[in-house]
Amino acid sequence: MPPNSADAEGNAGTELANGIDHEDSVWVRQQTDKVELHRHLEGSVLPKTMWRLQDKGMVNFGFESFEDLERHIIMTEPLQDWDTFFKRFETFHKVFLEGGPAATREVVKDEVAFAATEEGISHLELRFSPHYMGGGEELLKGRAEYPSSWDDHMQAIIEGCAAAKSSHSIRVGLVAIVSRNYGPKSGLMTAAFARRWRSDVVGFDFAANEDKETTAAFADTAAAAHQMGLPLTVHTGEGYSVDHIQHTLDCYGPAVRRLGHATTLLDDPALVERCCRQGITVESCPTSNFLMGCVPSLEAHPLPRLLAAGVTCTVNTDNPVLFGTTMNDEWRLCLQRMSITRPQLLRMNDNAKAVAFGFGD
Ligand SMILES: [Zn+2]
Repeated sequence: MPPNSADAEGNAGTELANGIDHEDSVWVRQQTDKVELHRHLEGSVLPKTMWRLQDKGMVNFGFESFEDLERHIIMTEPLQDWDTFFKRFETFHKVFLEGGPAATREVVKDEVAFAATEEGISHLELRFSPHYMGGGEELLKGRAEYPSSWDDHMQAIIEGCAAAKSSHSIRVGLVAIVSRNYGPKSGLMTAAFARRWRSDVVGFDFAANEDKETTAAFADTAAAAHQMGLPLTVHTGEGYSVDHIQHTLDCYGPAVRRLGHATTLLDDPALVERCCRQGITVESCPTSNFLMGCVPSLEAHPLPRLLAAGVTCTVNTDNPVLFGTTMNDEWRLCLQRMSITRPQLLRMNDNAKAVAFGFGD
């Protein structure tokens, strides 16, 4: 059975979710008011959508069969080598670069509908990098404006969300991502993009490279986002030592409301205390953290200890298709592998609703 599908009992087809207790599976599926705050649009492209895009001649992935496609894009083992990882990402990237906004519209429509019907998600924050989706070669040639393709993809995202919401009960908030790998200029362009779409964008995120020098180089972008009233979430402490989290908070200031991953946060009790004091929330992504080698096992994941320390936490999928998971899988893994209780899960879900940046109607 392919990952991201579920049998009649709600048992997902992932390796990690195998052996999950039936009673928990039923309970998890009964929860239809789930809130997901950390999900990348780009790593959530459903295999069935990719296959349809190839069928229609919109994107040529070069796969002979649906099974080949799934094998190529879904991680089932912890990261072994970066080459294989980047090849998986290239396939996701092709969807947007080759398929253009027409593909983006279909991708988003399917993703949002899947979240509503298969995962019981009622509130979804979907994040995306306009540079990654729309390309940015013009930036490197010294253009002053970001490429118009970014706007085209944004329009397609909005239309895809609207199409899904016309037949499913789900609210969606859009978060613009700066991939720090693209450099500071791309950051400022993404801030300009967010300003242009201010009424449709609810928050701002920084992803990828966490080196201290790189993090600091985006302080201007963080200030620009803050100036237009956009709350920040930042990928930090994703396997990087805890001083990187502190550095991030120091560089990006009080606009930082949430931390993506922060798997090393517990290594600095004073910083844990600071996060509690400032009401900063951790977006935990257990399967992602395990597969990317940030934690040695799900049992060793810091989420239960973060909760015990009083940190506000939420449960998320990150890139559900890439990591072969769903929100239902993450909830079941919390119950079965991480000693988290049902009341704790429900509390984290309430937290997620409370700290969400916002959702469209
Ligand atoms: Zn992420």
